[in-house]
Amino acid sequence: MFCKNCGKEIANDCINCPDCGAQLAYNDSDSIGWLCLGCCVPVAGLILYFVWKDQKPKSAKKALIGFFICVAFYVGIYAIYIIYFLLIMFLAGIASTL
Ligand SMILES: [Zn+2]
Repeated sequence: MFCKNCGKEIANDCINCPDCGAQLAYNDSDSIGWLCLGCCVPVAGLILYFVWKDQKPKSAKKALIGFFICVAFYVGIYAIYIIYFLLIMFLAGIASTL
């Protein structure tokens, strides 16, 4: 990978750039954990995103993705409820006309 700060090519597992010392970040093995955290505790995912977006952009992004997965999940459930409700109303409307 390349350092975001100075642009030099560095080893993928570097936490700090050996050349300019910029913090690059994060332990990849933690990434799924942050995604799960963001998913289970969306508020924490959102807070972590804003706290980390500069220092740990990839972990922050994972936390944010977790947050959006959670939001999408609830929006999906809500949409299913609405569709279900409309379907029931529709079927009830048909039944009443018969
Ligand atoms: Zn650098």
